[in-house]
Amino acid sequence: MIVVMQHGAGREKIDHVVSEIGKHGFKAHLSEGQERTIIGIVGDGRLTDLQHLENLPGVDAIVKVLKPFKLVGRDFHPADTVVKLDGVEIGADKVVIMAGPCAIESESQLYAAAKAVKEAGAKVLRGGAFKPRSSPYSFQGLGEEGLKLMARVKEEFGLLSVTEALTPATVELVAEYTDIIQIGARNMQNFGLLREVGKIDRPVLLKRGMMNTVEELLLSAEYILAEGNGRVILCERGIRTFEKYTRATLDVSCIPVCKRYSHLPVIADPSHAAGSWSYVAGLSMAAIAAGADGLLVEVHPDPASALSDGKQSLRPEKFQALMKQLKAVAAVMGRSL
Ligand code: PEP
Ligand code: MN
Repeated sequence: MIVVMQHGAGREKIDHVVSEIGKHGFKAHLSEGQERTIIGIVGDGRLTDLQHLENLPGVDAIVKVLKPFKLVGRDFHPADTVVKLDGVEIGADKVVIMAGPCAIESESQLYAAAKAVKEAGAKVLRGGAFKPRSSPYSFQGLGEEGLKLMARVKEEFGLLSVTEALTPATVELVAEYTDIIQIGARNMQNFGLLREVGKIDRPVLLKRGMMNTVEELLLSAEYILAEGNGRVILCERGIRTFEKYTRATLDVSCIPVCKRYSHLPVIADPSHAAGSWSYVAGLSMAAIAAGADGLLVEVHPDPASALSDGKQSLRPEKFQALMKQLKAVAAVMGRSL
C-alpha cells in the first residue's frame, strides 16, 4: 500500500501519517520527491484496514498494490487447492459433474433424478431442501424432510450430495445431512452465514452473487477461509446484465480470472445462467473449455411438473447426451470426467 501526499504537504503532516502507520504495526518508507512525498507501507496490510489514512490531513490518495484478499489468493498459496471428499477430487484432473433437481420434491422424484445422473456419470447429487424463492408464495422446499430424503437417496446411489443452507441457524442441520454446503447467489454477501460455514468441517460451494464482481466473490470466500474452512469451491452462475433473452449472463471470463487470482477450484452453473434448458449444453461446454473444474446442472425426471426451475432443467436423456459431449470437451482440455 502506498500513501501519496498532496502537493507541498509539509513535514508535520508527513510525520503524522508516518506515526499513524507505526501505530498499526507497520513501517513507513519515505520517498521524498521535488513536488510530493510518497510513503510506502512496509508489511502486509491486507489483513488490516488502513483505508482511513486517506482522511488524514495532507493525504491525496491511498494506492493498493496488492489484491485485498489474502487467504484465497495465489501469492500466499500458489498451488491449486483440491477439495477432496470420499474419493472425489474437485480441482484436480477430473471435471466433476454435480446434477439433480432444483428442489427436492418427493422421494420418487429425487430417486429418479439420482438414478439418471448416476447412470450418466455425475458424482454429486444436487437438490434444494431450503429454497430461496423470489416470491414468498412459491414452493419453499421440504426443509428437514428434504434433507433426510437426500441423505437416503445419495447413499443408495453412492453419490455425494450438495444442498443449500439459507440461514446461519440452519447450517448445522444442513451439515448433518449433506456432504457439500451450497451458499446461494442471494447469500453471497450474507457475512454471518459465511462466517458460520467457515466454522464447520464441510466443503462449501460458494455461488457468485448475480450483482457481484469477481473481487467481491473472492472476498466472500476469504470470510470462509478466515474462519478456518479452506475447502471452498467457487461457482459462476450468471450475472445480471441488460440481456433479456437469458435469465442471467454466464460470465465465462470469471472462470479464468478466478483461476488466475485464486487457488480455489472453480465450477459453473449453466442452468441458472441460461434459464432455458436449450442453452444449457452450450454454456456447459463453454465453461469446461474456459477451465472450469466442474458443473452444477439442473436435471429433473419430468421438468414440466417441476415445482421450481423446470424450464431450465434437462430431461435425463438430454443430460446423458450432454455428458458425452462434455467428455469430448474435457479431453481437449487434457482432462476427463
Ligand atoms: C439453486 O442452485 O437452485 C439456486 C437457487 O441457485 P442460485 O443461488 O445461483 O440462484
Ligand atoms: Mn434452481
